Order: sequence, then C-alpha cells, then structure tokens
Amino acid sequence: MAERMLKFVGTSQAMPDKRPAAERRRDFDEIYSNYAREKAAEQAARCSQCGVPFCQIHCPLQNNIPDWLKLTAEGRLEEAYELSSATNNFPEICGRICPQDRLCEGNCVIEKGFDAVTIGSVEKFITDTAWSQGWVKPIRPRRERPESVGIIGAGPAGLAAAEQLRRKGYQVAVYDRYDRVGGLMIYGIPNFKLEKDIVQRREKLLRDSKVAFHLGCEIGRDVSMEELRQRHGAVLIATGVYKARDIQAPGVGLPGIAAALDYLTAANRSGLGDAVPGIESGALYAEGKNVVVVGGGDTAMDCVRTAVRQGAKSVKCLYRRDRANMPGSQREVKHAEEEGVEFVWLSAPQAFLGKDHVSHVRTVRIHLGMPDASGRQTPQEIPNSHVNIEADLVLKALGFDPENLPEALATPDLGVTSWGTLDIDWRSMMTSVDGVFAAGDIVRGASLVVWAVRDGRDAAERIHSYLTTKALNAQRIAAE
Ligand code: FAD
Ligand code: SF4
Ligand code: SF4
Repeated sequence: MAERMLKFVGTSQAMPDKRPAAERRRDFDEIYSNYAREKAAEQAARCSQCGVPFCQIHCPLQNNIPDWLKLTAEGRLEEAYELSSATNNFPEICGRICPQDRLCEGNCVIEKGFDAVTIGSVEKFITDTAWSQGWVKPIRPRRERPESVGIIGAGPAGLAAAEQLRRKGYQVAVYDRYDRVGGLMIYGIPNFKLEKDIVQRREKLLRDSKVAFHLGCEIGRDVSMEELRQRHGAVLIATGVYKARDIQAPGVGLPGIAAALDYLTAANRSGLGDAVPGIESGALYAEGKNVVVVGGGDTAMDCVRTAVRQGAKSVKCLYRRDRANMPGSQREVKHAEEEGVEFVWLSAPQAFLGKDHVSHVRTVRIHLGMPDASGRQTPQEIPNSHVNIEADLVLKALGFDPENLPEALATPDLGVTSWGTLDIDWRSMMTSVDGVFAAGDIVRGASLVVWAVRDGRDAAERIHSYLTTKALNAQRIAAE
C-alpha cells in the first residue's frame, strides 16, 4: 500500500481543470471538467490512509473514503464504485455540490502544510465513470413485497428513500407537486453547479427500477393525506422548506424586487426548455440590468452567478457581515468573484427606492459588535452611513422557513417544532402520526443534499422495521 499511496509529499493537490471565468460567464455549463483516469489515480494516491479517517467522520454519509481512494489509485474503478455507491445514492451529485471545504475535505488531516485530498472530485469521477461504463443498473429486488410506501416529495430525501425501499422489494410511489423529479436539485441549484441531465438519468434509473412517479400532484390539494395513508402501508413526508424569508423595509413591494427561488426556478425552467413568463417579460431576467442580491448564503451565490451569465450590467452581493462570517461556501464566493461579482460586505438594505419600479437600494454600513448567545457577532448599524446603490433587479436571498404543514396537509395531529419543522422521534424517524415518517429539509430546516440523502436512507430503514413489525403482528393475531 505504502508504495501506491501517501503520495502527498511529491504530488500537489490538483482539482480537475476549471474553465476560464470569461468563458464561464457566457454559458450555464458546469465549470469543472472531469479528471482523466491517470489524474484521478494520482490525486487519490495522495491519501495517507489515516487510521482514524476524519474525512469519513465528517461526511454525513460516513462514506468509506480511504478505501475507495485506494481502489481508485490502484485502477480498480468498478470496485471503487461498488463501495462508494453502497453508502450514497447520488455520489456523482454529492461529489459536485457538497460544500467539501466544510465537510470531508475540510477535515482531511493529510499532514500539516499539505492541501487536502480532492475527495469530492474523485467521488464524482468514480460514479461518472460507472455511468459511462454501464455499471449503474436498475434495481431488481431479490423478492417483491406486497406492502407499498407513499413518498411525498421527489427531492433528494424522497428519492434516496425510494431507492432504498425498492431495493428491499417494496412497491414505491413518489408524489410531487412539481412537473419534474429532483426537487431543489432540478429547480433550485443552477446548471453550472449540477447539470440537469445528471439528475434526469437518476430519475430514469428509478423509473426503470419500477418506482412510480405521480407528478403535478400536490398532497393536501389533489390527494388528501388521509387518502394517501389508506393507499399505503407507510407514508414519508420529504417536502422540503419553501417559505422565503422577507425583508422588512420600506419599498420592498416595488416591482423589480423578487424572491431568489422564483428567479432561480425561472432560470432553470428556461434552461430545460420551458416557456417561462417571467423570463419572456424580462421581470425575472438580468440582461442589461444592475442586479443587487441581498444575502450571503449559497442561494445568494447561485443568484449572482446566474445574473452574470444572463448578461447583467453589474452584479453586487449585499451582506451584513464580512467574508469570514458568511454562511456560503468560500469556494463559491471565489468562483463568483472570478466571474465579476462585487461583494459589498458589512452592508444592509434600509429601503428600496423608486417610483413605479425599484431604482436604488438605500444601504447602511454595519459594524460587527459583541458576540451574541450563538457566538456570532451582532451586526449594528453605523449612524449616517447611507449609500444608495443603483438597482434594476433586486433578489432577496435570506433563507427559507417551513410552511405550516399540519394545515397544508389538513393533518392537525402532525407535531411541529418551534421552528415549524416536523417534530420526529429521531430513533424511529416517525412523526406524531402513526405510520407517517419524515426526512430532509422539512425536519432539519434548510440544509444540504447530502443530509437529505442520509435522512432518506435512515427513514427507509425505519419504515422497513415498522412494516415488518406490523406484518408480524398481523400474522400473530391471525394465528390466534
Ligand atoms: P427538496 O429538494 O426541497 O424537495 C422537496 C420536494 O417536495 C419538492 O420537489 C417539492 O415540489 C415537493 N413537495 C413539497 N410539498 C409538496 C406537497 N404538498 N405535495 C407534493 N409534493 C410536495 N445543497 C447542497 O448540498 N449543495 C448545494 O450547492 C446547494 N445549493 C442550493 C442552492 C439553492 C438555490 C437552494 C435553494 C438549495 C441548495 N442546497 C444545496 C440545499 C439542497 O438543495 C436541499 O437541502 C435539499 O434539496 C433538500 O432535499 P429535500 O428532499 O428535503 O427537499
Ligand atoms: Fe464529501 Fe459529500 Fe462525498 Fe461525503 S458525500 S465524501 S461530504 S463530497
Ligand atoms: Fe485520506 Fe485525508 Fe481521509 Fe486521511 S483524512 S484518510 S489523508 S482523505
């Protein structure tokens, strides 16, 4: 092993080639190319095969990273794929969009002074290779089970659960109010981070595995929760969080001010070939405009980078804290800066100005005061520090809250936390309603794809235990 691995001393960290910013600004294609086979092997060989792999501990899926790196270094890619897909339903997606700097790679302890192993890029390489070689096959369960499970939401949590349950032979039906499968992976995350055919080939695989999809079907409106519970032995709620937080400031209702997700969904739909009224009218299109995005998370980064690609005149990101305190991935900030986005740190909107349409954002400078109970420094406005910034399109990217699900699903017994997320028993992953489970953002609040996958897998396990216990009890009663 020592011969092939531990190459970090002689081999520097190298990400796959990144396209030049000037080229990236002109299209919506992904910005990184794939590794060539030799490059992937070379980079994987930098791993020092730690006895206690912190990368694995900090991966929400506890992926067996050192072992699949070693197999990649040895050129045993099919085995590497088998191993990486054993713990992750979408390794090529996580490899692309996990904030690795905060998860696996951020905790790679290769050796002080050396850059982390490029875990995400190797993971993506392994699974993209598996797809191109035909190693990724539809599920053929060893035995079919009669029980069915209804899943509300075709995002990563719902899809991961669907795949795991199908592997065990359950009949799985996934319901989604959208017309496409993928949740935020299809309509939230832009194409330049995750190309849509990557998500669509996963949908096809699930369809070929006999997962049934009911699209354009909103539970609580088109089908009641009660009916769903009658149709299925168990139900999983994986509906995500979609209520956009708003800004309280004069003029916030002016035309030209939009919610980030409306803007990103319009861009994604348009990229998929749909006719989108907001794009056709120009209301949700940035070409030729001075764009101001309010917020410092990953959604804000996706907005600024989309606006650049739509040909905006200028793009500014307004954030009330500084670079070190922003919630978004530093890697994404760097990409945005390379592409020409201007960050206005320590600045907050105070009012939106304009007669019939927004024309300026009145901003105030911020000073970071003493840390609050959460340990974060409190933003304080600096008196008389106003600056007016020109704006034809303002995008609000301040995060998301859950909608009132007990009301939306007409299920008042559904328990919620004080944040409005679904209250589950973490051991059983069941909600307060018997046979109804929950996973993903609707439980955690706005989070990450990799956590949604983790929850979806865990929920599938618990649903399996629930249904097998129920079947055994039914048999026992029948025998008595
Ligand atoms: P979702 O993906 O939101 O899926 C929920 C699904 O449920 C949707 O399809 C919705 O239509 C459906 N639904 C809701 N209510 C009903 C109903 N009543 N009936 C039927 N269907 C219903 N994470 C990362 O890891 N990396 C990133 O780079 C990243 N970028 C992001 C960028 C943006 C702009 C956003 C908004 C999020 C981003 N995230 C990212 C977060 C990530 O997308 C989410 O954490 C993840 O998708 C949550 O998965 P989920 O399955 O819980 O919910
Ligand atoms: Fe890293 Fe995400 Fe892959 Fe885990 S799933 S190894 S955190 S890229
Ligand atoms: Fe390899 Fe880094 Fe993980 Fe250690 S922490 S096993 S060096 S990838």
